[in-house]
Parts: sequence; C-alpha cells; structure tokens
Amino acid sequence: MILTLLGAPGAGKGTMARQLAKKLQIPTISTGALLRDEIGSGSMLGKEIDALISNGNFVSDETIISLLLKRLEEADCQKGYILDGFPRNESQADQLSQLGILLDKALLLSIPDAEIIARLAGRRECPNCRATYHIQYNPTKLDGVCDECGGALQIRADDTPEIIKKRLEIYHKQTEPLIQYFRQKGLLAVVQSEQGVDDTVASALKTLGVTL
Ligand code: AMP
Repeated sequence: MILTLLGAPGAGKGTMARQLAKKLQIPTISTGALLRDEIGSGSMLGKEIDALISNGNFVSDETIISLLLKRLEEADCQKGYILDGFPRNESQADQLSQLGILLDKALLLSIPDAEIIARLAGRRECPNCRATYHIQYNPTKLDGVCDECGGALQIRADDTPEIIKKRLEIYHKQTEPLIQYFRQKGLLAVVQSEQGVDDTVASALKTLGVTL
C-alpha cells in the first residue's frame, strides 16, 4: 500500500504515519525528517536546506524529489510506504504520478487552525530517530526522553510563532489545493484529527478500509 498523509503543520501527520506504519508493517517516509537528516549531516546541501526551512520556506521540488527517490530505493520500501509531507504542492503530486508512483489513498487529517497553534507549541522531536511527540497530547513515558530510542527530545527550529504563521500561510496557498486534487482523482480519505491518538488511528484504519 502506498499512502500519503495530508494536513496542516501540526495536524498530527508524523504521529499518525508512525502508528499506521507499525500496524501496516511498512515504513513511514517523512520528507521533513529527510531534510533535517541532511541538515544534521553538515553537508553543503544541508546548509542550503537549513536556510530555507528555518524561515518556513519550501525546499525546491528538484531537491526534495531527489532525496525522496534515493530513500524509496531502499529495500524496506518494496511492499509500500507512508509518505508524510509529500506531495506538498500540485507540481510534486503530478511528478509523483509521472514517476509511476501510484498512490492508493491520500489521507487528510482535518483540524482547525486554532488547534494547530496550540499543538505546534507543545511539539517535540527526537533528533536521532525522528519520532514526534506532544507534551500534552502524546507525551513520552519519561519527560524529554524518546520512547523509541532514548534520544533527548528537541523543539524544532521552525516551530516558533512567526515561522508557524508563515508555514500555515504557505500550507493554505500551496498544499490545501491538493485536497481537491486528490478528491477529483477519487483518492481522498478524511479523518478528524481532534480525537486522541488511538481513536484517530482507529478512525483512519476504518476510513482506509484496513482490517488487521
Ligand atoms: P515537516 O516536517 O513535514 O513539517 O517539514 C518541515 C519543513 O521541511 C517544511 O516546512 C518545508 O520547509 C520542508 N519540506 C518538507 N517536505 C517538503 C516538500 N515536499 N516540499 C518542499 N519542502 C518540504
């Protein structure tokens, strides 16, 4: 199964992707995490990416697609995968189908803007394994320590109030039209993301028609 998750920053795509990946036994591929890994490597490309995303801007389609294709060549992607953060505009969606990558579903995590601001403020990420948490809605067992790998959690550099505002504006302008794009293709599935994590995942599996 090849899925993509749609939704505003903070809608819970990272958490949903990880939970679904465990249930469906396929990897989750977050383009944001691929970019943060590239920044962490200290490469020249990483420095260019950092300058863009720490200001809330998108990375070029060319860069993102080359990083994504490299990741998709790995053996764990053979049986399918969950894309988190890609496509983010219509041009990326068109390129996905031109590359012969056919999505089974685009799952929209629906959430009001007011809720997003509160969610992003409490978001934490593990810099080692890229697991995401929320201090209130999805806390770790030990404060500040990743449940998956024991890494020390961090606040993302682009989760500041003014950058969040910019990311939301870009989302509404560039990414939100993908809802209609996938609806027209008959690929859209929608889940309300305001419930707790377990209930949202259960609703998602039901909407996707997956029985485990
Ligand atoms: P995310 O972790 O999905 O919130 O992504 C963090 C940041 O990485 C975004 O705000 C963008 O700057 C960049 N990014 C992630 N995915 C893409 C993409 N598909 N196209 C362009 N930029 C992206």
